[in-house]
Amino acid sequence: MFLPSLSSKGAPARPASEAGRRALFPEATDAEWFDWRWQQRHAVRSLAQLEQYVSLTPDERAGVQETASLFRIGISPYYLSLIDREHPFCPIRMQSIPVRAEARIRPGELADPLGEDKTRPEEAIVHKYPDRVLFLALDTCSVYCRHCTRRRITKGGEAELSKEQLRRGIEYIRSHPEVRDVLISGGDPFLLSEQRLEELLAPLYEIPHVEMVRIGTRVPVCLPMRVTDALARTLRRYAPVYVVTHFNHPKEVTPEAREACERLVDHGVPVENQAVLMRRLNSEARIIKELSHALLRIRVRPYYLHQMDVAEGCEHLRTPISKGMEILQQLRGYTTGLAVPHLAVDLPGGGGKVTLQPDYLVERGARESVFHNYKGQRYVYPEPEETDCSCPYDEVWRTRGGA
Ligand SMILES: *Cc1c(COP(=O)(O)O)cnc(C)c1O
Repeated sequence: MFLPSLSSKGAPARPASEAGRRALFPEATDAEWFDWRWQQRHAVRSLAQLEQYVSLTPDERAGVQETASLFRIGISPYYLSLIDREHPFCPIRMQSIPVRAEARIRPGELADPLGEDKTRPEEAIVHKYPDRVLFLALDTCSVYCRHCTRRRITKGGEAELSKEQLRRGIEYIRSHPEVRDVLISGGDPFLLSEQRLEELLAPLYEIPHVEMVRIGTRVPVCLPMRVTDALARTLRRYAPVYVVTHFNHPKEVTPEAREACERLVDHGVPVENQAVLMRRLNSEARIIKELSHALLRIRVRPYYLHQMDVAEGCEHLRTPISKGMEILQQLRGYTTGLAVPHLAVDLPGGGGKVTLQPDYLVERGARESVFHNYKGQRYVYPEPEETDCSCPYDEVWRTRGGA
């Protein structure tokens, strides 16, 4: 028994893709347009196709040609229909059409920027943190992001995960009782059929020490019609399942994306967002703030704001560390705490994520600590006299097995 998808506050709007669809795919019927498999079949995958839809700048044309041997292009008709065909700095365009700079690999840039292959005990598993693993389920996406950090995998050539590799990945988790959280990613796991997804979710659900599953997907952003009732119902059966999606700009928060996210949330699947800070795309506080607000309106919680990884060909999109700190400083206090994501740097070479925040502590003493508040005004916090912080009830609670 599930509620029909009810939209939260705000009038239902016309699909954002409507005008673009009429201009670019006038033949598509409603049934086709809202069928994710039609969208996948009609994804733009070559320069010749792309030129039919968008008049490319010389920089983009050279970008598509020069990156051809490095990383594939692929843009769903839906995502393409959101592109501003007049402006090369359109965030949809910047994320999906390569420019020449992407073909230039700079010193220090890495094929495996997060050092994942060093902590990859199975083809499908990256095990970097004590209690959670990343499960790489497939190598395909609905849109190939120009800022992809895992392009060594998503560029193709790594075959689809075989049944045997899937089995070995699950077996690894089964034999590692410390793993309580499994993050399924890839590629985009929502490109799997419900049946294939269940072949992964069902055995994980059976493993007693796996307490939760997260699914990393850009489908709500790039292929929202994939989030069908059948998909949402499938996920609900394996609760707790969290969806972690990847909106980078408020322009992506369309009525279509909203319907996808709200359908998940209505089925008891919380949706979180990880954005990546990208130079000249979303690298201003007002854009990140507007993105956060747009996400909260559709019940998506901003989770991480990522500093760009040192992935090959991405230097032109990287921002200085100070920019992220500055953006955070312009959010904290000025807007809803839920709208303030964690600013994360995933350390090159495999150190894992660390978070940064503006420093509000001016001085820390034994008697008192001195702070600046968000407006830069000085405040004092007095320290308590007693400092023993052990919890006497904890032993009791533990010996009773947490009951
Ligand atoms: C980001 C990441 C996770 C999850 O990290 P959280 O901080 O728990 O969201 C897990 N494994 C790998 C390899 C990651 O990169």
